[in-house]
Amino acid sequence: MPSEPLSRNAAAFREALIAWYDANARDLPWRREPSTYKTVVSEFMLQQTQVKTVLPYFAAWLEAYPDFASLAAASEEQVLKSWEGLGYYSRARNLHKLAREVAAIPPGQLPTDAKSWLKFPGVGPYAAAAICSISFSDPSAVVDGNVVRILARLTADESDYKTSTDAAKSYRGLVQELLNLERPGDHNQAMMELGATVCHKQSPTCLLCPVQSHCQAQALGIAETLPRLAKTKFKEVTVNRAWIQSEHGILLHKIPADAKRMKGLHELPDLAQLGIPVPKGKPTLTRKRGITKYRITERIHALPPGKLPSKLPEHHVWVAPAALQRLPFSGPHRRWVTELVEASGH
Ligand code: SF4
Repeated sequence: MPSEPLSRNAAAFREALIAWYDANARDLPWRREPSTYKTVVSEFMLQQTQVKTVLPYFAAWLEAYPDFASLAAASEEQVLKSWEGLGYYSRARNLHKLAREVAAIPPGQLPTDAKSWLKFPGVGPYAAAAICSISFSDPSAVVDGNVVRILARLTADESDYKTSTDAAKSYRGLVQELLNLERPGDHNQAMMELGATVCHKQSPTCLLCPVQSHCQAQALGIAETLPRLAKTKFKEVTVNRAWIQSEHGILLHKIPADAKRMKGLHELPDLAQLGIPVPKGKPTLTRKRGITKYRITERIHALPPGKLPSKLPEHHVWVAPAALQRLPFSGPHRRWVTELVEASGH
């Protein structure tokens, strides 16, 4: 049963954590011969995405763009194509812009502190602390969902939080106090590793936990109930899309550069944008998916080209089936297009 508050036992806590990490860290490709570039790419890819999904993308990415300069020299379309299927495409565009900014900095002048890195595109407080602590031993502690979960349990914090961002704010001080100043990058990675491999959301494996003796929630038997975060309220949305083929190819919508999301990717056109009323009867394909707080039902209708207005709305293009592979799509649209092409016998 822990008797002392965590902050009074900070030295023992960080020693136990780093010793466990040294013995148990997973062998991940960005940890082998680490470089700032590999750290940046892995941190961008790992946002909202699991390690096992990232691994093949990371290998292919390093092959295609081995450093900041080669990524900076690539076109946006190439970069989006390489990211295809990984989701949250603004990460790819920001990583590309960041590479262009970094490649333009004279050698030896790249900033090494988290505050300066916040100015780069797509770098928030978490990524800035992770990149700078790992690459430059900057003493900045990371706080994300994993760290929130571990700290809420270590301190048996039963407060109700609206979001994990609110909870993260309340742990800023403690997380910085616990940081190992000799090895800040390894300490941060150790916290992430603990969250990913031991202190799971459901069924944490407390018997294997290196900091079990510091954990108040485990002692009280309430670990699995923490942190107390409000449940996300999902919104149900239905989108009706068109699958239209003609002698010119397949009709697609290229998402314009001023759109909020998925800029530069191709998708099946929305019936509302084409000005076509939703047909009665069963759609050709119905698929459900979730994006952040939305639960979306996608209904795709095969329609003859005669349904189209005489002038196509902006950003709609005919694409020959043979050219589909070269274009960037989001993962779901790629899957639906592949299914529909196969069903139509191309
Ligand atoms: S003892 Fe259990 S609940 Fe506490 S930090 Fe370790 S794994 Fe998480």
